[in-house]
This record gives sequence, C-alpha cells and structure tokens, in this order.
Amino acid sequence: MSFHRKDTKIYRGQIAYTPELGKLTTIKNGYIVVESSKVKGVYPTLPKEYEYTPVEDYGNKLIIPGFVDLHSHASQVANRGIGLDRELLDWLLVYTFKEEAKFSDLCYAEKAYSEYIKLLIKNGTTRAALLGTIYRESTELLMDIANGYGLGAVVGKVNMDREAPEYYIENTDQSIIETERFIHNTIWKYPLVKPIITPRFVPATTPKLMWALAQLADYYRLPVQSHLSEDKEELEYVKRLHPEFKNYVSIYNYFGLFGQQPTIMAHCVYLSDEEIALMARKGVYVAHCPVANFNLSGSVAPIRKFLLAGINVGLGTDVGAGHAVSIKDVIWQAIQASKVYELQTNHQYKALTTAEAFYLATKGGGSFFGKVGSLEAGYDFDALVIDDSNILTIHPRTISERLERFIYLGDDRNIIQRFIAGRKVNPLTLSV
Ligand SMILES: [Zn+2]
Repeated sequence: MSFHRKDTKIYRGQIAYTPELGKLTTIKNGYIVVESSKVKGVYPTLPKEYEYTPVEDYGNKLIIPGFVDLHSHASQVANRGIGLDRELLDWLLVYTFKEEAKFSDLCYAEKAYSEYIKLLIKNGTTRAALLGTIYRESTELLMDIANGYGLGAVVGKVNMDREAPEYYIENTDQSIIETERFIHNTIWKYPLVKPIITPRFVPATTPKLMWALAQLADYYRLPVQSHLSEDKEELEYVKRLHPEFKNYVSIYNYFGLFGQQPTIMAHCVYLSDEEIALMARKGVYVAHCPVANFNLSGSVAPIRKFLLAGINVGLGTDVGAGHAVSIKDVIWQAIQASKVYELQTNHQYKALTTAEAFYLATKGGGSFFGKVGSLEAGYDFDALVIDDSNILTIHPRTISERLERFIYLGDDRNIIQRFIAGRKVNPLTLSV
C-alpha cells in the first residue's frame, strides 16, 4: 500500500473537458484525482496507489469544468431583460447609469450583489471578470460577497470622468485616488478574488485618466478590462472624440492599457485586420458576448477570425445588456452567432463547433485566470456535476452528445454539484 496526501479526493463519473480548441476529451466511468485545490490526474481506471482512498461516485452523471464568464456587470443584475429594444448609447443613458448610481447606497449594493453572486454560482459559473460601479466601497463589498460564496473573480471599480450624466461621473483626480485605495484594500485580501483596472470605455475616460490607470496597472501588476467596438454609433463617437487616432484599438494601446498583465476587451465587433493583429501581438483577450451583441446592436463579432489570428477568446454574459446569466446559454448563442458570421462572409469563416464553443466557455476564458477551465493534471479543480436524467432520451447517448444536449436543453437545475479550486460551493450558503 502506498501513501497519499490526506487531502486527496477522488471523484468518479462521465468526464468531459476540452484540452485544446475543438478537441473534446471524454472518459466513460472515469476518475478524477484531486489533491488540495488541483487536479492530480484523470484516469479511465483508478491507479493502484489510490485503491484505499474513498471515491465520491457520481455514477452516470457528467463531470465537466466550471464555466468562466469573462465579462459581466454585477451592478446591472436588476436591469436584466429591460430596455433591450434600444441601442447601446441610448440604453446606457436611459437605464444603465441610473441603475449603477444606486450603488452609492451600500444596503442596495449588498442586496443586489448577493443575489447576483448566488445566480452566478447557481448557473455554474466558477470564475468571472466582473465590473462593479464607480463607487469604491460598494465594489469592495462585491469582492467580499464573491469571496464569501467561494467564487473566483477579478473585480473592477469602474472609472469614468467624461461624457456621463452629472449624477454618475467622477472627478479625474478623485477617480485615480479612489482606484489606488481600492487596490490597496483588496489586492492581498482574498485567495481567489482580485482587483482589475476598469476604465469603462474610451468615450467615458479622459486621456489623463487612461494614462494614470495604465500606470497603476503596471505598478501593481494588475490586468485591465474594458469595452471595445460594440456598436457603430459608439465607433463614430470615438472618432469624434479622438480624430488624431487611426482606430479604436490604437487609443487603448497608446495610453498603455495593453500592459504586462493581460487585458480583456469585451465585444470587439468591428475591428480592422490591423487592429486584430495588434491585439494578438499584445495578448489581449476578447470577451465574446453574443447575447448582448444581439440584444443591443444586432451585431456579430468575428470570432473565427480572432481564433485564426491567435487571439485568446472567452465568453461573457455582459449582464445586463445580456439577459442570460448562464454561460451555458452563451455557448449556444455563440454558436448561432458564428453561423450568422459564416453566412455574412460567404462561408469564408466557418461556424464554431460545440466543442470549440465549450472550450471558449471553459479553458479559453479560464486561461486568463491561470491553469483554469480544464480537468487536465495541474489545473485548479473547478468543476460541475450534471444530472441530465430529466432530458428525454429514447436510446443511449455518448458523453459528447449528452454534453451538447445539456447545453441546448438543460438549465441550472441540472447542476447538482459545483467545485471551485477543489472546494464544494453552494448558491444557498456562504462557503467562507
Ligand atoms: Zn459590458
């Protein structure tokens, strides 16, 4: 008998994960050995050294990596499904800024953020890149709540010092001071929740603020998240504000916001080949938010083109422009969007397969957080156990078919267990 670590856990079930884009690995009646927070290995038969370790047996249920949401506004949870017959800039003024302004009230923030984080966990999101509001204190509260439920996340205090209503705008110097305070208060506070620099987008941040934020990101070695090229009206707006730049991407690049740590840019619908090449060189992540893109502008991002250019792509819900909080639903929406793009390009850029879209929802976005989003050895054990027995089937299906049917036909009730960095988490109870 050989010895193993006390914190070794073994899970058995029908395993599926994507070690690379488009390649789905499935293991029937397989075993996942987890040591502390990380996957030690995945096996079709249990290695002899573990024969005396208890196995948590999930029988015929699926075990898959947890979902990664690479772009969402926690502060817009109460706005889901509202005003989606408007276009971006109009929608921001009529709905978004008014809702975000409510987060100066910590009681309101606590209620909304708690509900939001519970929704994320319930729907199988295990890691997320989140935007709060311009208010430091309630954004710190969001981090506390995310940590309390065991979620892995980067969270940003939003910066905006121009082109915004007077009830929801910052003074430039104050915005910089508050951001540095935000970083000090949170950078070492939690194991899985970290700050991220978050200029809202070019129209709402002055050059002085963009410079300062880039310097903070550099100094504290923090990543950056923002929005890029979501809507045609927004593109015109950016051109009017910055005629001295040749395109949108070069503005972020000039002000240093594609720094040492990776940057996430949400949307990226209308980009030139030159902009795509620059983003690929700088290792920028695209957060693809097809639900939000359909809702607010009826547009489709060129995801196949990004993948061919070597850009890292993950999926985002973009709540509340996106009404869906579940990345599972964003997966099939991404596939549908890619089919529209294939048609738009006369079949030059092929639609995403299910395995490809599943990769984007797990390892694609997960790589932003490190070794996250797969069940390969060395990865953080972020996983979901799926009971799909209520999805009608007349004859047996393969694991791959069952995963696809869960994506299209399932919902949060099919998720019966959730793990983040090796720990079980639950949307109904605080786990920390
Ligand atoms: Zn957004």
